[in-house]
Amino acid sequence: MDDLGDVLSGGRDLCNLGGGNPAQIPAVQSIFDKTISEAVGNGTFRALISSYDGPQGHRPFLIALSNLLNREYGWSVGPDNIAMTTGSQSSFYILFNLLTGLCGDGQRRHIKLPMVPEYIGYADVAFANDGLRANRPLIDIIDSHTFKYRIDFDEFKIDDTAGGICVSRPTNPTGNLLSAEEIEKLMELTHAAGVPLIIDNAYGVPFPNIVFSNIEPMFDSHVIYCMSLSKLGLPGLRTGIVVASEEIIEVIGSVNAIMSLATGSLGAGLTTPLVETGEALRLGREVIRPYYESRLKQALFWCKEHMVGLDYFIHQPEGGIFLWLWFPALPVATQVLYQRLKARGILVIPGHYFFPGLNETWDHAHECVRISYSQSPDQVEKGIRILAEEVRRAFEL
Ligand code: PLP
Repeated sequence: MDDLGDVLSGGRDLCNLGGGNPAQIPAVQSIFDKTISEAVGNGTFRALISSYDGPQGHRPFLIALSNLLNREYGWSVGPDNIAMTTGSQSSFYILFNLLTGLCGDGQRRHIKLPMVPEYIGYADVAFANDGLRANRPLIDIIDSHTFKYRIDFDEFKIDDTAGGICVSRPTNPTGNLLSAEEIEKLMELTHAAGVPLIIDNAYGVPFPNIVFSNIEPMFDSHVIYCMSLSKLGLPGLRTGIVVASEEIIEVIGSVNAIMSLATGSLGAGLTTPLVETGEALRLGREVIRPYYESRLKQALFWCKEHMVGLDYFIHQPEGGIFLWLWFPALPVATQVLYQRLKARGILVIPGHYFFPGLNETWDHAHECVRISYSQSPDQVEKGIRILAEEVRRAFEL
């Protein structure tokens, strides 16, 4: 997929269902427009862009978020339990390299993913050889076109070579939402093993809340809770948030200082009032989540319409902005399907990229694709229609 950049910059009229950009939701954009013009009007904008914040991030945001987490969810965190980063991708860069490789006790450690498919961005983050390991999931068939992955707790073991466990909730690419029981079990197992549990909430709660059921954020002293402003609608402001023990937060601050002196102030500064007032929660609950829910419904309708007669399964979509489609016994790998679709102006991501750390071949990985349903409805409809045509052709050839 190294060709993706060339394709995207080639000026062709492409239907890009491959990317991770959030949808441009007018009601959200107008809130940010208003926030920015107020900040310009009252001098906040100038103050934000004209001085460095501390390496832990914009202090008023840290205070506002810790208050919100304590008030809304009964957490017991202070501003020194929170650090900002340059997007949560850089949070993972810091955390994975902190927790993997050669440790002070002479042991080499890795991050363990309890199951894959998982976020593609974890793939090359750890410098250490063998810095990431993953387990296969169990597959539950729910109905003739729906399935769901579950962690295989019988196979999932944490030994002394694990430096940390990481899950995204909801999961990119599958839309899986680990249940409260699964998270509790992971919290217990990691606590007993004395390793941190990283929970990646890029799409989760408290915001942006692209979760199609009511869940609460779950925390404990050994949990590293990662959040981002990207899917709230601000990916260009590169703002990641880590909530963790003061010990971890201190290290993140030090790495920020070394890597970038200070974190960007704009994302945190502009959204501080939304966090202070709880407006960020309302936005997720009343605007962002319903928006994606209705887009999901459309996308599922188009799958049903265009894939009639095909043997296909969709991972039960419980959150996030993607559909994960599985075509059992597909005669070509989805990498080939990707090339054929690209030739027709449709971009999707072949499934095998989402199995980082799984050191075994698994046909299933080559029978899946991820598509985003956050782009314009006509593009999503066209993409699904042509995907269905190409899958049908692959079976017929
Ligand atoms: N985690 C997950 C699960 C994601 O899907 C993404 C981006 O798509 C990220 C983290 C990175 O987000 P950010 O824009 O904050 O770096």
